[in-house]
Amino acid sequence: MAVTLGFAEPVDAAFGSEQFPSKIGGRARWLDPRRPLASAQAQCDECGRTLALLAQVYAPEDAPPSAFHRTLYVFVCSNGACHRAAAARCMRVFRAQMAERNDVYEERRRADENGSGGGGGSGSDNDDDDDGVEWRMRPQVRAAPTCVVCGLAGGKACSGCSRRTYCGRAHQVADWAAGHKAQCGGAQAADSAAHGQRLARMAFPEHVLVTEEEAEGECDGEADGDDASGDDASDDEDVAATALVPAHGEAAEDSQVEVDAAFLAFQRRMQAEPAQVLRYARSAATAAQRTPLLVSDTGAPAPGDVPACERCGAPREFEMQVMPQMLNHLALDAADALSVDWGTLLVYTCARSCDVAAEHCAGYAREVVWRQNFSAQGIGEKFVRAMHGDDSGITRQIESLAI
Ligand SMILES: [Zn+2]
Ligand SMILES: [Zn+2]
Ligand SMILES: [Zn+2]
Ligand SMILES: [Zn+2]
Repeated sequence: MAVTLGFAEPVDAAFGSEQFPSKIGGRARWLDPRRPLASAQAQCDECGRTLALLAQVYAPEDAPPSAFHRTLYVFVCSNGACHRAAAARCMRVFRAQMAERNDVYEERRRADENGSGGGGGSGSDNDDDDDGVEWRMRPQVRAAPTCVVCGLAGGKACSGCSRRTYCGRAHQVADWAAGHKAQCGGAQAADSAAHGQRLARMAFPEHVLVTEEEAEGECDGEADGDDASGDDASDDEDVAATALVPAHGEAAEDSQVEVDAAFLAFQRRMQAEPAQVLRYARSAATAAQRTPLLVSDTGAPAPGDVPACERCGAPREFEMQVMPQMLNHLALDAADALSVDWGTLLVYTCARSCDVAAEHCAGYAREVVWRQNFSAQGIGEKFVRAMHGDDSGITRQIESLAI
């Protein structure tokens, strides 16, 4: 298997009933709805606000059995100014997982489309193990209350109607202003459309993540373009026309991005599928495919920078990366120089996918997200200082990655 690419697509009606969604934005859909992530786990260390869901990725593993269902949740601060700080201060990744036999989902045969003597596809010996099986939530499962604004655990209820639940006062106030004030205590059960839209704007716009394997030809990377030189000239023009550096508007144009070898390789690889917003590498066949596609020669994690799993001691491995193209789907203000920004976000997770059910994990293992920028320019002072000579800066940054 090659690297799996993720693309952003509009949400459709079927997506709402997807049990194990992979998506961008919106509110998190928790693998175990009885245990939503506590909001205290997802606060920005820079501004103190609640982080927003950037993406959740369903990434089940064959082993261990406790990772049969497995989802990664990536949160970032939507306050652009915070992104001048170290990524560890304004981004978080959590891993949730669950065994095949569990208290939440049950497996059942799908109401049979093949059984009625359908066409050639019904040959039973060719069936993949997934075919005809679907998961559904057990009817007795009671979802814990979540915050209507952010989707994190919502332990507080509106004192007026006791129907709306919130993670805390800030989001209660936000919901009140967004429309609950007019509605509280009334008979109307549903949010007004305007209220719903205002709430939706407090999260990143929701998109479905659809996946596709990267074509093998693109994966060798090196000097691919040297043959068929006749086509190359026009290819290069295309690259220039759709250059990735100004990932979101002209603001990037004056940031004097240094073009280095890693960036050129990055750009060449992206050329085949320029809309990719995510690269999932953990299940790829070769070690080369399982290494991140770096955007620069500088700012990648050095050996030892990504700590071993605090829970089980296994090393963390690179699993997936968020591409700069995802920024285009977040409804960011391109004119804002302090907007949310990154070159790529590298996600490292416990190589053993160790169990998260234990009490001290509360269902979530915090993993590591590493931000790499296109260049040192425009990153923010702290990061530049950390990269140039000041080792203690780097150490500080790394230490704060772990819980
Ligand atoms: Zn913040
Ligand atoms: Zn909230
Ligand atoms: Zn109320
Ligand atoms: Zn572990």
